[in-house]
Amino acid sequence: MPLNESGNVNPKQPMPLINAAECKGCERCVEACPAKCLRISDKLNCRGVKAVEYIGKGCTGCGICFYNCPEPYAIVIDKP
Ligand code: SF4
Ligand code: SF4
Repeated sequence: MPLNESGNVNPKQPMPLINAAECKGCERCVEACPAKCLRISDKLNCRGVKAVEYIGKGCTGCGICFYNCPEPYAIVIDKP
């Protein structure tokens, strides 16, 4: 089940759904996101990795994060 730990999300807007347990914290998506709405968490996930998280606003649903992520189950986009 994708997780998104950020608050302040609007269910009518596109947003990244992040599975923190699969994220390796490589920052590819952070660097690639044109809207600069992703960041690396300051907390460790269950596997000892600082995973990516959504800042809670700004996602356009472009999908660039998904296409730049090497982990198959780490990030997908929810486009209502
Ligand atoms: S879908 Fe686009 S705007 Fe949204 S988080 Fe991914 S790269 Fe950023
Ligand atoms: S979601 Fe994918 S691209 Fe982004 S930090 Fe995690 S593993 Fe890297």
